[in-house]
Amino acid sequence: MIPFNKPYLAGNEIVYVEESIRRGKISGNGHYTQECHAFFSRYFPGSKCLLTTSCTDALEMAALLINIEAGDEVILPSYTFCSTANAFALRGAKLIFCDSMENHPNIDPDDIRRKITSKTKAVVIVHYAGMACQMEEILEIVQSNNLFLIEDAAQAIESFYKKKRLGTFGHLATFSFHETKNINCGEGGLLVVNDRRLFNRSEIIWEKGTNRAAFSRGEVSKYNWIDIGSSFLLSDLNAAYLKAQLENLSKIQTKRQNIWNEYDIRLKKLTNSGVIHFLKQFEYGTNNAHLFAILCQDENTRNALIDHLKTHGILAVFHYLPLHKSPFYLSKNTEESLPNAEKVSKSIIRLPLYPSLTMKEQTQIINTIEEFFR
Ligand SMILES: *Cc1c(COP(=O)(O)O)cnc(C)c1O
Repeated sequence: MIPFNKPYLAGNEIVYVEESIRRGKISGNGHYTQECHAFFSRYFPGSKCLLTTSCTDALEMAALLINIEAGDEVILPSYTFCSTANAFALRGAKLIFCDSMENHPNIDPDDIRRKITSKTKAVVIVHYAGMACQMEEILEIVQSNNLFLIEDAAQAIESFYKKKRLGTFGHLATFSFHETKNINCGEGGLLVVNDRRLFNRSEIIWEKGTNRAAFSRGEVSKYNWIDIGSSFLLSDLNAAYLKAQLENLSKIQTKRQNIWNEYDIRLKKLTNSGVIHFLKQFEYGTNNAHLFAILCQDENTRNALIDHLKTHGILAVFHYLPLHKSPFYLSKNTEESLPNAEKVSKSIIRLPLYPSLTMKEQTQIINTIEEFFR
Protein backbone atom coordinates (compact mmCIF):
# COMPACT_ATOMS: atom_id res chain seq x y z
CA MET A 1 0.00 0.00 0.00
CA ILE A 2 1.26 3.49 -0.83
CA PRO A 3 0.03 5.62 2.07
CA PHE A 4 -1.23 9.16 1.69
CA ASN A 5 1.43 10.47 4.05
CA LYS A 6 4.50 9.13 5.85
CA PRO A 7 6.45 10.97 8.56
CA TYR A 8 10.00 11.64 7.40
CA LEU A 9 13.08 11.62 9.61
CA ALA A 10 15.16 14.39 8.06
CA GLY A 11 18.17 14.40 10.39
CA ASN A 12 18.68 14.54 14.13
CA GLU A 13 15.09 13.97 15.32
CA ILE A 14 15.93 10.90 17.43
CA VAL A 15 19.23 12.36 18.69
CA TYR A 16 17.52 15.55 19.89
CA VAL A 17 14.57 13.76 21.50
CA GLU A 18 17.05 11.60 23.41
CA GLU A 19 19.08 14.67 24.36
CA SER A 20 15.93 16.38 25.59
CA ILE A 21 15.23 13.42 27.89
CA ARG A 22 18.83 13.45 29.16
CA ARG A 23 18.57 17.16 29.96
CA GLY A 24 15.83 16.25 32.43
CA LYS A 25 13.29 18.87 31.35
CA ILE A 26 10.76 17.64 28.87
CA SER A 27 7.82 19.93 29.66
CA GLY A 28 7.10 23.15 27.78
CA ASN A 29 9.38 26.15 27.23
CA GLY A 30 12.55 24.09 27.71
CA HIS A 31 15.84 24.01 25.80
CA TYR A 32 14.47 22.90 22.43
CA THR A 33 11.45 25.19 22.61
CA GLN A 34 13.87 28.06 22.99
CA GLU A 35 15.98 26.79 20.09
CA CYS A 36 12.87 26.68 17.89
CA HIS A 37 11.81 30.13 19.12
CA ALA A 38 15.26 31.44 18.15
CA PHE A 39 14.83 29.92 14.69
CA PHE A 40 11.43 31.54 14.24
CA SER A 41 12.56 34.92 15.53
CA ARG A 42 15.04 34.96 12.62
CA TYR A 43 12.38 33.62 10.27
CA PHE A 44 9.79 36.25 11.31
CA PRO A 45 11.95 39.27 12.26
CA GLY A 46 10.18 41.63 14.65
CA SER A 47 7.38 39.18 15.51
CA LYS A 48 6.83 37.17 18.66
CA CYS A 49 6.64 33.42 18.07
CA LEU A 50 5.28 30.81 20.47
CA LEU A 51 5.26 27.05 19.90
CA THR A 52 1.87 25.54 20.67
CA THR A 53 0.50 22.03 20.92
CA SER A 54 -1.22 22.45 17.56
CA CYS A 55 -2.39 24.99 15.01
CA THR A 56 -5.84 24.45 16.51
CA ASP A 57 -4.50 25.72 19.84
CA ALA A 58 -2.70 28.64 18.19
CA LEU A 59 -6.05 29.65 16.65
CA GLU A 60 -7.70 29.41 20.07
CA MET A 61 -4.98 31.68 21.46
CA ALA A 62 -5.68 34.11 18.62
CA ALA A 63 -9.38 34.22 19.51
CA LEU A 64 -8.50 34.89 23.18
CA LEU A 65 -5.95 37.56 22.28
CA ILE A 66 -8.35 39.62 20.20
CA ASN A 67 -11.04 39.27 22.90
CA ILE A 68 -13.68 37.57 20.81
CA GLU A 69 -16.98 37.69 22.70
CA ALA A 70 -20.47 36.33 22.26
CA GLY A 71 -22.15 38.11 19.37
CA ASP A 72 -18.97 39.19 17.58
CA GLU A 73 -19.01 38.24 13.93
CA VAL A 74 -15.99 36.48 12.49
CA ILE A 75 -15.65 36.10 8.74
CA LEU A 76 -13.88 32.99 7.46
CA PRO A 77 -13.85 30.64 4.47
CA SER A 78 -16.25 27.71 4.42
CA TYR A 79 -13.72 25.60 2.58
CA THR A 80 -11.33 24.89 5.47
CA PHE A 81 -10.67 22.54 8.36
CA CYS A 82 -13.06 22.87 11.31
CA SER A 83 -10.26 24.15 13.59
CA THR A 84 -10.36 27.50 11.79
CA ALA A 85 -13.99 27.85 12.92
CA ASN A 86 -13.89 26.06 16.28
CA ALA A 87 -11.50 28.54 17.86
CA PHE A 88 -14.00 31.37 17.37
CA ALA A 89 -17.13 29.27 18.00
CA LEU A 90 -15.64 28.39 21.40
CA ARG A 91 -15.66 32.10 22.32
CA GLY A 92 -19.29 32.47 21.24
CA ALA A 93 -18.63 34.24 17.96
CA LYS A 94 -21.12 34.17 15.13
CA LEU A 95 -19.43 32.51 12.17
CA ILE A 96 -19.92 34.17 8.80
CA PHE A 97 -18.79 31.86 6.03
CA CYS A 98 -17.47 33.12 2.72
CA ASP A 99 -17.27 31.36 -0.58
CA SER A 100 -14.07 30.35 -2.37
CA MET A 101 -12.98 32.19 -5.47
CA GLU A 102 -14.33 30.89 -8.72
CA ASN A 103 -10.95 29.62 -9.85
CA HIS A 104 -9.31 28.70 -6.52
CA PRO A 105 -10.33 27.29 -3.10
CA ASN A 106 -9.01 30.44 -1.33
CA ILE A 107 -11.50 32.91 0.13
CA ASP A 108 -13.13 35.37 -2.28
CA PRO A 109 -12.31 38.96 -1.18
CA ASP A 110 -15.52 40.26 -2.79
CA ASP A 111 -17.55 37.93 -0.60
CA ILE A 112 -15.69 39.20 2.50
CA ARG A 113 -16.60 42.76 1.52
CA ARG A 114 -20.27 41.85 1.10
CA LYS A 115 -20.47 40.18 4.51
CA ILE A 116 -19.01 42.90 6.75
CA THR A 117 -21.46 44.40 9.25
CA SER A 118 -21.12 46.67 12.28
CA LYS A 119 -20.60 43.49 14.37
CA THR A 120 -17.69 42.15 12.35
CA LYS A 121 -14.59 41.89 14.54
CA ALA A 122 -12.16 39.77 12.57
CA VAL A 123 -11.43 38.17 9.23
CA VAL A 124 -9.70 34.79 9.22
CA ILE A 125 -8.10 33.65 5.99
CA VAL A 126 -6.60 30.30 4.99
CA HIS A 127 -3.76 30.07 2.48
CA TYR A 128 -5.00 26.86 0.93
CA ALA A 129 -2.26 24.49 -0.26
CA GLY A 130 0.23 27.16 0.81
CA MET A 131 -0.99 29.42 -2.03
CA ALA A 132 -1.32 33.03 -0.83
CA CYS A 133 -4.75 34.62 -0.63
CA GLN A 134 -5.25 37.92 -2.48
CA MET A 135 -3.48 39.94 0.17
CA GLU A 136 -3.72 43.44 -1.28
CA GLU A 137 -7.51 43.26 -1.55
CA ILE A 138 -7.86 41.61 1.85
CA LEU A 139 -5.57 44.12 3.63
CA GLU A 140 -7.51 46.97 2.09
CA ILE A 141 -10.78 45.50 3.41
CA VAL A 142 -9.58 44.85 6.97
CA GLN A 143 -7.77 48.20 7.26
CA SER A 144 -10.62 50.30 5.96
CA ASN A 145 -13.06 48.53 8.33
CA ASN A 146 -10.67 48.46 11.29
CA LEU A 147 -10.83 44.67 11.70
CA PHE A 148 -8.40 42.09 13.01
CA LEU A 149 -6.81 39.85 10.38
CA ILE A 150 -5.78 36.32 11.30
CA GLU A 151 -3.91 34.08 8.89
CA ASP A 152 -4.51 30.37 9.25
CA ALA A 153 -1.18 29.55 7.63
CA ALA A 154 -1.30 25.89 8.73
CA GLN A 155 -0.26 24.78 5.23
CA ALA A 156 1.81 27.79 4.29
CA ILE A 157 5.32 27.45 5.70
CA GLU A 158 8.00 28.69 3.23
CA SER A 159 5.46 30.42 1.04
CA PHE A 160 5.22 34.05 -0.06
CA TYR A 161 2.93 36.70 -1.48
CA LYS A 162 4.97 38.92 -3.79
CA LYS A 163 8.19 38.19 -1.84
CA LYS A 164 6.57 38.81 1.58
CA ARG A 165 6.40 35.72 3.77
CA LEU A 166 2.96 34.32 4.57
CA GLY A 167 2.30 34.62 8.28
CA THR A 168 3.49 38.26 8.35
CA PHE A 169 0.32 39.91 7.03
CA GLY A 170 -2.17 39.34 9.85
CA HIS A 171 -2.17 40.76 13.37
CA LEU A 172 -1.74 37.07 14.19
CA ALA A 173 -0.85 33.99 12.16
CA THR A 174 -0.91 30.29 12.96
CA PHE A 175 1.08 27.35 11.58
CA SER A 176 0.70 23.60 11.98
CA PHE A 177 3.38 20.96 12.56
CA HIS A 178 0.92 18.10 12.39
CA GLU A 179 2.30 14.93 10.85
CA THR A 180 0.65 15.73 7.50
CA LYS A 181 2.23 19.17 7.10
CA ASN A 182 5.55 19.99 5.39
CA ILE A 183 7.45 20.36 8.68
CA ASN A 184 6.14 18.28 11.55
CA CYS A 185 6.65 16.97 15.05
CA GLY A 186 3.63 14.68 15.33
CA GLU A 187 1.34 17.32 16.78
CA GLY A 188 2.50 20.90 17.09
CA GLY A 189 1.84 24.46 16.05
CA LEU A 190 3.07 28.02 16.12
CA LEU A 191 1.46 31.34 16.93
CA VAL A 192 3.09 34.31 15.21
CA VAL A 193 2.19 37.60 16.89
CA ASN A 194 2.84 40.46 14.48
CA ASP A 195 1.00 43.16 16.43
CA ARG A 196 3.28 44.45 19.21
CA ARG A 197 0.28 45.40 21.35
CA LEU A 198 -0.43 41.68 21.77
CA PHE A 199 3.13 40.52 22.62
CA ASN A 200 2.89 40.71 26.38
CA ARG A 201 -0.46 39.06 26.79
CA SER A 202 0.36 36.29 24.30
CA GLU A 203 2.94 34.64 26.55
CA ILE A 204 0.63 34.95 29.57
CA ILE A 205 -2.27 33.21 27.80
CA TRP A 206 0.24 30.62 26.54
CA GLU A 207 1.28 29.78 30.13
CA LYS A 208 -2.17 29.19 31.69
CA GLY A 209 -2.74 32.88 32.37
CA THR A 210 0.41 33.26 34.47
CA ASN A 211 3.51 35.40 34.14
CA ARG A 212 5.68 32.32 34.33
CA ALA A 213 7.56 33.13 31.10
CA ALA A 214 8.69 36.45 32.58
CA PHE A 215 9.53 34.59 35.83
CA SER A 216 11.78 32.09 33.96
CA ARG A 217 13.64 35.04 32.43
CA GLY A 218 14.17 36.46 35.93
CA GLU A 219 12.03 39.53 35.23
CA VAL A 220 9.64 38.95 38.15
CA SER A 221 10.39 37.33 41.49
CA LYS A 222 7.31 35.09 41.64
CA TYR A 223 4.75 33.99 39.19
CA ASN A 224 1.06 34.44 39.58
CA TRP A 225 -2.29 33.98 37.89
CA ILE A 226 -2.90 37.29 36.16
CA ASP A 227 -5.20 36.64 33.17
CA ILE A 228 -7.22 33.90 31.53
CA GLY A 229 -5.22 31.33 29.61
CA SER A 230 -4.65 27.68 29.05
CA SER A 231 -1.90 25.13 28.59
CA PHE A 232 -0.89 25.96 25.05
CA LEU A 233 2.83 25.07 25.33
CA LEU A 234 4.39 22.31 23.26
CA SER A 235 6.23 19.59 25.16
CA ASP A 236 10.00 19.92 24.77
CA LEU A 237 10.08 16.37 23.37
CA ASN A 238 8.08 17.54 20.38
CA ALA A 239 10.15 20.73 20.15
CA ALA A 240 13.31 18.58 19.98
CA TYR A 241 11.86 16.66 17.03
CA LEU A 242 10.74 19.91 15.43
CA LYS A 243 14.20 21.46 15.72
CA ALA A 244 15.66 18.64 13.62
CA GLN A 245 13.00 19.26 10.98
CA LEU A 246 13.67 22.99 10.93
CA GLU A 247 17.39 22.37 10.44
CA ASN A 248 16.45 20.41 7.32
CA LEU A 249 13.79 22.75 6.03
CA SER A 250 15.40 23.28 2.64
CA LYS A 251 16.19 19.57 2.16
CA ILE A 252 12.58 18.66 2.95
CA GLN A 253 11.27 21.37 0.67
CA THR A 254 13.51 20.29 -2.22
CA LYS A 255 12.27 16.71 -1.95
CA ARG A 256 8.63 17.80 -1.81
CA GLN A 257 9.14 20.22 -4.70
CA ASN A 258 10.67 17.48 -6.89
CA ILE A 259 7.72 15.18 -6.25
CA TRP A 260 5.25 18.00 -6.88
CA ASN A 261 6.98 18.91 -10.18
CA GLU A 262 6.96 15.29 -11.31
CA TYR A 263 3.17 15.05 -10.83
CA ASP A 264 2.75 18.39 -12.55
CA ILE A 265 4.78 17.40 -15.63
CA ARG A 266 3.50 13.86 -16.02
CA LEU A 267 -0.21 14.51 -15.40
CA LYS A 268 -0.29 17.56 -17.68
CA LYS A 269 -1.45 15.40 -20.63
CA LEU A 270 -4.68 14.72 -18.76
CA THR A 271 -5.30 18.41 -18.21
CA ASN A 272 -4.74 19.06 -21.92
CA SER A 273 -7.54 16.64 -22.75
CA GLY A 274 -9.68 18.33 -20.06
CA VAL A 275 -10.52 15.26 -17.95
CA ILE A 276 -8.79 16.78 -14.93
CA HIS A 277 -7.64 20.25 -13.84
CA PHE A 278 -4.87 21.40 -11.56
CA LEU A 279 -5.20 24.01 -8.85
CA LYS A 280 -4.41 27.42 -10.28
CA GLN A 281 -0.97 28.82 -9.46
CA PHE A 282 -1.23 32.61 -9.16
CA GLU A 283 1.83 34.61 -10.19
CA TYR A 284 1.57 36.64 -6.96
CA GLY A 285 2.15 33.57 -4.82
CA THR A 286 4.73 30.82 -4.47
CA ASN A 287 4.12 27.09 -4.36
CA ASN A 288 5.48 25.42 -1.22
CA ALA A 289 4.63 21.90 -2.41
CA HIS A 290 2.35 21.30 0.54
CA LEU A 291 -0.11 19.25 -1.48
CA PHE A 292 -0.70 18.07 -5.00
CA ALA A 293 -4.35 18.07 -5.92
CA ILE A 294 -6.26 17.23 -9.06
CA LEU A 295 -9.80 18.37 -9.76
CA CYS A 296 -12.13 15.91 -11.50
CA GLN A 297 -15.11 16.88 -13.62
CA ASP A 298 -17.71 15.71 -11.11
CA GLU A 299 -18.20 13.98 -7.78
CA ASN A 300 -18.88 10.51 -9.21
CA THR A 301 -15.67 10.53 -11.24
CA ARG A 302 -13.75 11.75 -8.22
CA ASN A 303 -15.11 9.03 -5.96
CA ALA A 304 -14.56 6.36 -8.61
CA LEU A 305 -10.93 7.49 -9.03
CA ILE A 306 -10.32 7.30 -5.26
CA ASP A 307 -11.76 3.74 -5.30
CA HIS A 308 -9.73 2.78 -8.35
CA LEU A 309 -6.53 3.99 -6.68
CA LYS A 310 -7.42 2.14 -3.49
CA THR A 311 -7.96 -1.18 -5.29
CA HIS A 312 -4.49 -0.64 -6.76
CA GLY A 313 -2.92 -0.10 -3.35
CA ILE A 314 -2.78 3.71 -3.38
CA LEU A 315 -4.33 5.90 -0.74
CA ALA A 316 -5.51 9.24 -2.12
CA VAL A 317 -7.91 11.40 -0.11
CA PHE A 318 -10.22 14.32 -0.50
CA HIS A 319 -11.08 17.01 2.00
CA TYR A 320 -12.97 19.56 3.22
CA LEU A 321 -16.71 19.14 3.40
CA PRO A 322 -17.63 22.84 3.40
CA LEU A 323 -18.32 24.03 6.95
CA HIS A 324 -21.54 25.85 6.02
CA LYS A 325 -22.96 22.41 5.17
CA SER A 326 -21.65 20.68 8.31
CA PRO A 327 -24.10 19.05 10.72
CA PHE A 328 -22.84 21.25 13.58
CA TYR A 329 -23.38 24.50 11.71
CA LEU A 330 -26.72 23.45 10.24
CA SER A 331 -28.00 22.46 13.69
CA LYS A 332 -27.94 26.19 14.54
CA ASN A 333 -28.23 27.98 11.19
CA THR A 334 -30.24 27.85 8.02
CA GLU A 335 -28.76 26.35 4.90
CA GLU A 336 -27.10 28.70 2.46
CA SER A 337 -25.34 28.20 -0.83
CA LEU A 338 -21.63 28.83 -1.45
CA PRO A 339 -21.29 27.29 -4.89
CA ASN A 340 -17.53 27.58 -5.43
CA ALA A 341 -16.67 25.93 -2.10
CA GLU A 342 -19.20 23.17 -2.79
CA LYS A 343 -17.81 22.58 -6.25
CA VAL A 344 -14.17 22.21 -5.21
CA SER A 345 -15.16 19.95 -2.33
CA LYS A 346 -16.87 17.56 -4.76
CA SER A 347 -14.12 17.44 -7.34
CA ILE A 348 -10.80 17.46 -5.47
CA ILE A 349 -8.37 14.59 -4.79
CA ARG A 350 -5.05 14.90 -3.00
CA LEU A 351 -2.31 12.54 -4.13
CA PRO A 352 0.34 11.00 -1.85
CA LEU A 353 3.16 13.50 -1.29
CA TYR A 354 5.89 12.93 1.29
CA PRO A 355 9.69 13.18 1.09
CA SER A 356 10.34 9.43 1.04
CA LEU A 357 7.91 8.72 -1.82
CA THR A 358 10.08 6.96 -4.43
CA MET A 359 10.08 7.60 -8.17
CA LYS A 360 8.88 4.01 -8.67
CA GLU A 361 5.89 4.60 -6.38
CA GLN A 362 5.11 7.89 -8.06
CA THR A 363 5.21 6.23 -11.48
CA GLN A 364 2.78 3.61 -10.19
CA ILE A 365 0.41 6.35 -8.97
CA ILE A 366 0.57 8.26 -12.25
CA ASN A 367 0.10 5.09 -14.36
CA THR A 368 -2.91 4.08 -12.27
CA ILE A 369 -4.53 7.49 -12.80
CA GLU A 370 -3.86 7.35 -16.55
CA GLU A 371 -5.27 3.84 -16.74
CA PHE A 372 -8.46 5.02 -14.96
CA PHE A 373 -9.07 7.73 -17.55
CA ARG A 374 -8.43 5.28 -20.45
C1 LIG B 1 -3.96 21.18 9.47
C2 LIG B 1 -4.78 22.38 9.54
C3 LIG B 1 -5.25 22.89 10.76
C4 LIG B 1 -5.07 22.16 12.06
O1 LIG B 1 -3.76 22.01 12.43
P1 LIG B 1 -3.44 21.15 13.76
O2 LIG B 1 -1.99 21.45 14.00
O3 LIG B 1 -3.68 19.72 13.41
O4 LIG B 1 -4.30 21.63 14.84
C5 LIG B 1 -5.96 24.07 10.77
N1 LIG B 1 -6.20 24.74 9.63
C6 LIG B 1 -5.79 24.28 8.43
C7 LIG B 1 -6.09 25.07 7.20
C8 LIG B 1 -5.08 23.08 8.34
O5 LIG B 1 -4.67 22.63 7.15
